[in-house]
Amino acid sequence: MGLPVRILLHAPDSRRAEAVTRAAFERIAALDRMMSDYRPDSEVRRLETAGQQWTPVSAELLDVLGTAVAVAHATDGAFDPTIGPLVALWREARATGTLPAAAALDAARARVGWRYLEIDRARGAVRLAKPGMRLDLGGIAKGYILQQALESLRTHGASRALIESGGDVVAGDRPPDRAGWRIEAPAADAVFTRRAGRLANAALATSGATEQFVEIGGVRYGHIVDPRTGVGITHRTLARVIAKDAAIADALATALSVTGPEGARAFLRRFPDVVVSFSMPGGGSP
Ligand code: ADP
Ligand code: MG
Repeated sequence: MGLPVRILLHAPDSRRAEAVTRAAFERIAALDRMMSDYRPDSEVRRLETAGQQWTPVSAELLDVLGTAVAVAHATDGAFDPTIGPLVALWREARATGTLPAAAALDAARARVGWRYLEIDRARGAVRLAKPGMRLDLGGIAKGYILQQALESLRTHGASRALIESGGDVVAGDRPPDRAGWRIEAPAADAVFTRRAGRLANAALATSGATEQFVEIGGVRYGHIVDPRTGVGITHRTLARVIAKDAAIADALATALSVTGPEGARAFLRRFPDVVVSFSMPGGGSP
């Protein structure tokens, strides 16, 4: 996943712990091969070379794409798994230090739109209905993979576990002697901090324009792109989400980074069970 993954778990002995951990890491590696943006042979990359044809995909890819489209729908497109062409432009901007040309932005925006990502669950097939589309699971794959790794541990009888990668965590059953796993959420509000302090059977995701940005003309453009404008986000809010499912938490945190607290109000009603927090890096609230 481009980032190290840490697993903490309770097991009767170290041999057992090693065996279940190995299985979980194998699961992570297999899912990463399917969903990675950077591997030209990943299942995601191969979808794009299929033109506008229906393409059969693995159960896992079908699953993560289904969740991605559901979150896109629920967030009115603030989270958009077809954002690839725009993300590529802003990646280039970060490398060159120059803003994308207006014409290039327009062309990329024309190739983005989650409604053109068609999923046929019954047939287990997916179709990118517009030419030049490019999927980007960067805002959901990590959460999905962490959740699947936790399911692997559960299946092997190690449900008292915590898995962490790059600030995103998924927690299974609580440790034997505590109410939950203690996750620190600096600068988050009291409700969020309390929930994070005893996390069990839930996931916590963080998102925001932090290290990955380019500064041009005194403005910082982040690695998260607002699908409505095509522009990398310029505010520096840190969005955090606690949700039952790590894929949802991950995708929702990305959506919240796009909209900020005001814009999120409209769609957060559709997620009654999640706890969210917005803060500014270094303290304060936005
Ligand atoms: P992090 O990479 O810090 O964990 P996120 O979970 O928010 O942060 O994921 C950011 C990644 O999501 C970007 O690198 C990009 O691949 C992808 N992305 C950017 N903008 C969007 C968007 N509006 N909707 C969905 N995915 C996005
Ligand atoms: Mg995310």
